[in-house]
Amino acid sequence: MPVKQQTIRGKVFKISTEQIYGYCDENDREIHIRPDQVSSEMVDTILHEVLHAALPNLSEAEVTETAAAQTRLLLRLGSWKKKKSAFQGETKGD
Ligand SMILES: [Zn+2]
Repeated sequence: MPVKQQTIRGKVFKISTEQIYGYCDENDREIHIRPDQVSSEMVDTILHEVLHAALPNLSEAEVTETAAAQTRLLLRLGSWKKKKSAFQGETKGD
């Protein structure tokens, strides 16, 4: 099922997929993610656009550096993709 929206810091953003890698329109509350990126690019793009949505006052350089650092760590810790959550069955907040 395609993802249509995501709540970020209390604001609902529409999620769409387009040909540009990614784009966040804070005013219209829309995030665009190109769907055919390789997984490492996709992770970086999603983190990048969510940072724009969550912290719109960050500069482009701050967003780019932070998303890249998060992506590198997620990829280095890549075994998380195969493991089941230790918290399975617990209720999580939004
Ligand atoms: Zn950006």
